[in-house]
Amino acid sequence: MIASPNIQANVQRVREAIADAARRANRKPEEILLIGVSKTHPAEAIREAYEAGLRHFGENRVQEWEGKLPALADLHGTWHLIGNLQSNKAARAAKAFHSVDSVDDWPLAQRLDRAQAGKHPTEKLRVLIEVHLGGEESKSGVSEAVLPELAEQIARCEHLDLAGLMCIPPFREEPEEVRPYFATLRKLREGLEVRVGRKLPVLSMGMSHDFGAAIQEGATEIRVGTAIFGTRERGE
Ligand SMILES: *Cc1c(COP(=O)(O)O)cnc(C)c1O
Repeated sequence: MIASPNIQANVQRVREAIADAARRANRKPEEILLIGVSKTHPAEAIREAYEAGLRHFGENRVQEWEGKLPALADLHGTWHLIGNLQSNKAARAAKAFHSVDSVDDWPLAQRLDRAQAGKHPTEKLRVLIEVHLGGEESKSGVSEAVLPELAEQIARCEHLDLAGLMCIPPFREEPEEVRPYFATLRKLREGLEVRVGRKLPVLSMGMSHDFGAAIQEGATEIRVGTAIFGTRERGE
């Protein structure tokens, strides 16, 4: 058995670490959004984090989140899908999440656009493009070569709001070693802003062990699971 974590204290500790990292990078802590990654953890844990002030949550499976949602329907949270999404689940994802942070191909984007048109014709679905930055660990994400074309296609979707980029760099014991990946994502974003002719404000990068390095490199959203909710029984 894993001892149940003190979620409230963990949220507090992570917020302090964000503030520290922001100060070191000459940034304001308010520029960095904390997303609590609650995959594999029960609805009660999400509620506890919500009560500790957390408002953004990330899940990596549509079905798992659909199972927790009824128990949390009274919360005014913002729910992010951060995991690999098959296009046949696009309609369900558009319904159950406020943001899909892991879009990595055009057929999926088209399906999300259509699903959103049917469900909330006047409201855009926020999406991020997940970029694959090398390393065999991660299979998801669009390649750097295809990224510009995909960004232009998504930017033209009437019902999608392309807000920025997301990445999951290869795991390194030493967070400083992943910094170059974070820097690469930031540079890719700069190039794309010119290409699509508007700002892409979001860089979603950094997890429990490396968010300090990600903040140094300009992360605007960090996705933190273990450091808030404790270790997961299933390795994901
Ligand atoms: C699980 C997961 C996280 C959180 O990872 P931790 O190391 O537990 O903080 C962040 N992003 C994605 C895409 C994930 O799947």
